[in-house]
Amino acid sequence: MEKKEKLHVVFIGAHPDDEGFCSGTLAKYAKKGHKVTIVSATKGGRGHYEIPTEKLREIRMNELQNVARILGTEVMFLDYVDADIPPPSDMKDDFVNLLRKLRPNIVITWHPYTDRDDHRNIGQVVYDACFKSSLPLIMTDDSFIPLPRIYFIGEPVYPSEPDVYVDITSVINIKIEAVKEHKSQLEEWIPWSYEMGTGGKIKPNLDQIIKYFVKERGRKFGIASGVKYAEEFRIIGAGMPKIKAKQLLPYTITF
Ligand SMILES: [Zn+2]
Repeated sequence: MEKKEKLHVVFIGAHPDDEGFCSGTLAKYAKKGHKVTIVSATKGGRGHYEIPTEKLREIRMNELQNVARILGTEVMFLDYVDADIPPPSDMKDDFVNLLRKLRPNIVITWHPYTDRDDHRNIGQVVYDACFKSSLPLIMTDDSFIPLPRIYFIGEPVYPSEPDVYVDITSVINIKIEAVKEHKSQLEEWIPWSYEMGTGGKIKPNLDQIIKYFVKERGRKFGIASGVKYAEEFRIIGAGMPKIKAKQLLPYTITF
């Protein structure tokens, strides 16, 4: 019988709810028996209007730990500061060390041309550090890794279509359950910030946020790829083949 390769899939986000863009995909990998690790570069200490930063960090770490339990993944936190993630070049060697320790086959992170600096900086440093981690002549405590496949979440600031879709229909309820764990965001921070931003006109509740962010978004990319619900990814680099919409991630073709 053919022996299936066990992969290590590593998602690296800036904040403890960023994985919500791809938690269906992460759940699918985990269900298939692959190792999945969610890394949050910050503990998310700034996403609230009244809970002090230290307390908020504890709450949000707890929320992401609950998410990881639901998805069947590992979770780890780095010590960068929410809304103050440094420029990529200042973090590059830390991420080389991290990647060489985790030794991923697949990396999922933010697209380096998204609109928010924390996301952008993480996307760029992860992309750059993946390449640097693969260079044997750069010696660190852990040895070099083969260049992992890298998939990006989020929309770039320029017009572009996704390159890869993953069918998440079978795990949509797991995704909804997982996203709902971010109570400090979905029940408090997001409704409050919408209310402030619209002069009191819009204040979405939890169900509306789930409907928009998980169901309608999943459906939109599902329609684009011929399935019920999908998550979308982009790829960068001349060496990466463009993949037709109906195909899944090359490593997940057996889904
Ligand atoms: Zn974020």
